[in-house]
Amino acid sequence: MTRIAFVNGRYVPFAQACVHVEDRGLQFADSVYEVCAVSDGLALERDAHLARLERSLIELEQGSPMSRLAMAGHIDRMISLNRIRNGIVYIQVTRGVARRDHPFPVQTVHPTLIMTARRTDPVRASEMAARGIAVKTMPDIRWGRCDIKTTALVANVLAKQEARASGAYEAWLVDEAGLVTEGASSNAWIVDSEGALVTRSLSHDILPGITRASILALARERQMAVVERAFTVEEALCAREAFITSAGAFVMPVVAIDGRPVGPGVPGPVASSLRRDYIRSHMQTKN
Ligand code: PMP
Repeated sequence: MTRIAFVNGRYVPFAQACVHVEDRGLQFADSVYEVCAVSDGLALERDAHLARLERSLIELEQGSPMSRLAMAGHIDRMISLNRIRNGIVYIQVTRGVARRDHPFPVQTVHPTLIMTARRTDPVRASEMAARGIAVKTMPDIRWGRCDIKTTALVANVLAKQEARASGAYEAWLVDEAGLVTEGASSNAWIVDSEGALVTRSLSHDILPGITRASILALARERQMAVVERAFTVEEALCAREAFITSAGAFVMPVVAIDGRPVGPGVPGPVASSLRRDYIRSHMQTKN
């Protein structure tokens, strides 16, 4: 089966998909993106991802390549053309192609729109969730607008690489006050010593995760105690549980931080049941 990419309005074989050398996404990371999970052939929380994409575009004063409805149609088409049952769809919009110069182009440019899709293995993901993951903490050296989902991800790339090189799966980024901001590609959570679910409140310091919002709603539905506040690495180590959320990982228990166990060092009941309920509820409601 030929893998298909969507580039600037055309469905093309993956190997032939390309963008211009002077695309501002390539040269300046002047570009935003989204990743939607695909489950049972449907894009999970598609509309929420598209709403966040629009917000990112507005924050960067970038044009939108097409309506939300048209974009949603292309996401669905990518899933069917690539025969994805479980996987992800990647969507990127750049400011477009122009002679290399830092300010926005004076002439009108068309935004570049790219979509790719690939399969993921849900069995491997559940096995990982059953084992739990290790995280490594490191200073958060990113820019001041982490709430915008731009492709300027080199600090996240370096953090993730350092984590992986040390045998951890994810990096937890820590601000100058010693408080965890978020993961390199996920939001960070703990179940504190009182049993409350804790995740950092929204600000310019973190990405407003789509999965984060759903888990907060799920927890409130369950009448769990939920607090949006920052926590330290020390507090996370003394917490009952820790976990991360993202479109790709859903809810993934964290069992070790910097080589030290969180609680008993195995996935906890809150993270495991939130993961199960999140998957279940999205299987039922879809978008
Ligand atoms: N924070 C960062 C830095 C991320 O890259 C991601 C993944 N996109 C998240 C949080 C989680 O966001 P979401 O649940 O929307 O995938």
